[in-house]
Amino acid sequence: MALINCPECKAAISDSAFKCPSCGHQVKKPKRTLFGKIVKIVFILFNLLMIYSIFAGMGASGDVINNAASDAERAGAALGAGMGAMMLGILWVVGDIIIGTLVFLTRPKA
Ligand SMILES: [Zn+2]
Repeated sequence: MALINCPECKAAISDSAFKCPSCGHQVKKPKRTLFGKIVKIVFILFNLLMIYSIFAGMGASGDVINNAASDAERAGAALGAGMGAMMLGILWVVGDIIIGTLVFLTRPKA
């Protein structure tokens, strides 16, 4: 740990400090760790994947419902699509809670 001078008030401050204790000037920007960055990217990708899955799923089940030969087949496809959407919704919420917690825990500390 070394001492540096605050660019604002020229006070001697620790080079590991993010803020100058005498004037409050932000000396260093708090940074995410590499793991924190990966977690954040995973979080964004996960949400994009979920949005994509829901749209892709809706399109696919819509085709089955329109092309079904019988009412039973149509009902089955509609039920399957509903169940699939519900499962996907649960997966989305659970995934967001788990990854969201990691994003929160790895947030940059000031
Ligand atoms: Zn200062």
